[in-house]
Amino acid sequence: MSAGPPLRLAGKRAVITGASRGIGRSIALALAGEGADVAVSARGGAELEALAAEIGGLGRCAAALTCDVTDAAQVERLAERALGALGGVDILVNNAGAAGSHKFLGHPDELWHRMLALNLTGVYYVTKAFVPALVEQRSGRIITIASIASKVGGRYIAAYTASKHGVLGLTRALAAELVGYGITVNAICPGYVDTPMTDGSIANIVARTGMSEAEARATLAKTNPQQRLVAAEEVAALAVFLTLDSSHGINGQAINVDGGEVTF
Ligand code: NDP
Repeated sequence: MSAGPPLRLAGKRAVITGASRGIGRSIALALAGEGADVAVSARGGAELEALAAEIGGLGRCAAALTCDVTDAAQVERLAERALGALGGVDILVNNAGAAGSHKFLGHPDELWHRMLALNLTGVYYVTKAFVPALVEQRSGRIITIASIASKVGGRYIAAYTASKHGVLGLTRALAAELVGYGITVNAICPGYVDTPMTDGSIANIVARTGMSEAEARATLAKTNPQQRLVAAEEVAALAVFLTLDSSHGINGQAINVDGGEVTF
């Protein structure tokens, strides 16, 4: 029997937040498929346990660790447990996030605080908790799943847009500050991806406009010049690329996966 291609991440240890479904789940499977051991995290336990079992089936070490990234104490505990389970960390993927929309007239403060707490402060807490281990070993990759909403503004998504612009600022600042430790910090900026989060956006459009689900889905697909939703696996493929030894020169970047919707 011939051996397959060499696993490019054999011996690497990765932590992925928001890994129970959607983009995070695809990233966890892709990293494990390249040989990495992974700790997968989210608030809900059942989907995580099933994912960890699936990754274990690939012959990798996998830990399922529940954590709400908006809670600093839970995040500290996540870092302790992940570092214990994996014996260290080489790759951190900040993926946990959520979308929410409302017109700015009468914008609920609760939505503002919820978006900032999860999409920006959550990334700050998680990165802060894992950076000491990366600094100590003087190497590491930090990847944050941002959005094209990190670069452009759109109607009815003021809080989401502000949170995603913020996380890109954090990415750039940390890329500058941590470069001397052999760490790279990059962001991936997807357009609409075919995930449960986008299913929620479609349901919201249906409820507000009376469009059918197919029409709402097509409306989102049309924002992409390729007239389609991006697949979670495409985002995962870029995440894997950014973790390779040969990608060490890529630092402080924000790379779009959106079919060309945003070209900067
Ligand atoms: P999903 O809603 O499909 O998955 C979100 C994941 O985050 C789940 O695993 C969820 O698990 C977890 N999560 C949610 N809240 C928390 C929390 N407070 N603490 C820890 N984990 C949490 O989202 P997507 O896969 O679509 O999105 C992933 C990332 O990609 C997000 O940051 C999103 O903003 C970004 N993105 C998505 C796009 C899209 O079109 N889908 C486009 C651009 C960017 P649980 O609920 O169990 O905690």
